[in-house]
Amino acid sequence: LVSRKKKPEDTVVEIKGEKVGNGTPSFVMGPCAVESYEQVSEVAKAVKAEGLTLLRGGAFKPRTSPYDFQGLGLEGLKILKQAADEQGLAVVSEIVNPGDLEEALEYLDVIQIGARNMQNFELLKAAGSVNKPVLLKRGLSATISEFINAAEYIISRGNENIILCERGIRTYEKATRNTLDISAVPILKQETHLPVMVDVTHSTGRRDLLLPTAKAALAVGADGVMAEVHPDPAVALSDSAQQMDIPTFHSFMEELKK
Ligand code: PEP
Ligand code: MN
Repeated sequence: LVSRKKKPEDTVVEIKGEKVGNGTPSFVMGPCAVESYEQVSEVAKAVKAEGLTLLRGGAFKPRTSPYDFQGLGLEGLKILKQAADEQGLAVVSEIVNPGDLEEALEYLDVIQIGARNMQNFELLKAAGSVNKPVLLKRGLSATISEFINAAEYIISRGNENIILCERGIRTYEKATRNTLDISAVPILKQETHLPVMVDVTHSTGRRDLLLPTAKAALAVGADGVMAEVHPDPAVALSDSAQQMDIPTFHSFMEELKK
């Protein structure tokens, strides 16, 4: 059902008036994790000031180590929603447990399914059964075909509002956190009718590469870019090395607008 052979025209995913996949790039910006109201509120104001509409922030964080900050859970989602509502923004946040989905629906506008859960089939089925857009990230070592099949799980349950997100894959290369598979963008655009975004933060893991990779993403036809922004990345509770501070975020947007 996600195949372009089945549906030749582009799917446009509408999120509170923002149309992802309509030819104008969309941006999903915000901190890695929701840490406090003050933190997300400062980022929400900056996102609004750039004329953007989609605010991200992790409340349920899938961390490699069980001893790292696990996120504020539902409380974090409520904080994010409050900060987003105050600026008229839409909320994009990850759900890791299908059991949390129903309660979370009240607080989010886009259900993010993270790389580690791309093949959590019960979560995919749950997200496919509700009436909310889904931002599906490519698995850490998933082939494009496996990625497309994961989207198929969602659409086959009735939810066709899916945004695919390339976020880098694991290779032998260690200069970047993951290897951004830029060619996945035009391949996914050719093979599916879904909008495709690129997460430049988790793919590169390097602040100095956010702007060039975002330019590359838009040049190859991505419908949008995701990146992380934190008021003070040095003290961030997760992904401290790769989040942009607010002045850097403004110059990042300025450069991309050119
Ligand atoms: C995220 O976007 O917050 C995240 C954890 O990314 P990924 O699932 O791509 O690792
Ligand atoms: Mn992160």
